[in-house]
Amino acid sequence: MDKLSYTPRGALTPNYPLADLTWLRVGGPADWLFQPADEADLSAFLAALPADVAVFPMGVGSNLIVRDGGLRAVVIRLGRGFSAIDVEGDRVTAGAAALDVHVARKAAEAGRDLTFLRTIPGAIGGAVRMNAGCYGAYVADHLISARVVLRSGESVEIKAEDLHLAYRSSTLPEQAVIIAATFRAAPGDPAALAARMAEQIAKRDASQPTKARSAGSTFRNPSGASSTGRADDSQELKAWKVIDDAGMRGARLGGAQISEMHSNFLINAGGATARDLETLGEEVRKKVLQTQGISLEWEIMRVGEY
Ligand SMILES: Cc1cc2nc3c(=O)[nH]c(=O)nc-3n(C[C@H](O)[C@H](O)[C@H](O)COP(=O)(O)OP(=O)(O)OC[C@H]3O[C@@H](n4cnc5c(N)ncnc54)[C@H](O)[C@@H]3O)c2cc1C
Repeated sequence: MDKLSYTPRGALTPNYPLADLTWLRVGGPADWLFQPADEADLSAFLAALPADVAVFPMGVGSNLIVRDGGLRAVVIRLGRGFSAIDVEGDRVTAGAAALDVHVARKAAEAGRDLTFLRTIPGAIGGAVRMNAGCYGAYVADHLISARVVLRSGESVEIKAEDLHLAYRSSTLPEQAVIIAATFRAAPGDPAALAARMAEQIAKRDASQPTKARSAGSTFRNPSGASSTGRADDSQELKAWKVIDDAGMRGARLGGAQISEMHSNFLINAGGATARDLETLGEEVRKKVLQTQGISLEWEIMRVGEY
């Protein structure tokens, strides 16, 4: 980093503890954390960064286990300069740092339906990258395009179809940073949209440990989702069910626990390390394989060094 020929306007911090930035509150340090002031700052920084330095864009860490050894990379975390939300007709454009909940609410107030985002605890960059979705609607159903700064520093607009959004995945270029996204949203009555969001929140709170430190669903449902990102709910074999059948509901390892409330949620019950969480997850996979011959696939992304 000594060689950097550009002095960023945003904050560049060495050795930043990533546990502070993830929902699970675990993870070692990033070599550097960069919080760009705006798009021009991010572009100039990436253009000046030596090509052998890895870049890892991070949202609010709601789908991540960062391992205890941390990340040998510059973690890019977008903040205030990237959180604007604009509604114009049926188009909703949101900065990548805008929280999904804020986008859903602001769209609803303007009579536009992006209610599916209301209960997803991430930010828009992570939502696009992961094709976030719930209650039958996904980013793929609404996204028009994403504005992206490539690792080279070049800014480009990528059309939704070129991101090949599929179940919890996209083909975003390696190390590229999404800085904004534009969605198409159907009209709706603001009061009815608000009521639907309240219903969804209540449904979540009743069935998932929403107040616990987790990263959402730990494993994909074994029968998988179709390439459109949609699963046939009625026929799908559920991850929570096979975990239950393997007797792992409530299992503990160090500070990690399989939630008593929903067995596809891996939680930091207090003082867990990333190793506790990942090892317990692997124990679950082993038990499910032994008892039912099913190989569970992680849905939580695990990154960094052990
Ligand atoms: C309680 C709970 C419930 C959840 N329920 C759901 C649900 O119903 N549906 C669902 O889809 N998900 C759900 N999740 C998972 C998670 O919230 C989503 O995957 C979310 O979209 C991740 O967003 P994030 O900002 O936290 O991304 P992170 O977890 O920070 O990152 C996830 C991935 O996105 C990449 N990324 C993040 N920001 C950017 C960016 N600006 N540019 C490029 N890449 C980026 C990261 O590099 C990483 O690969 C849940 C999580 C929790 C904790």
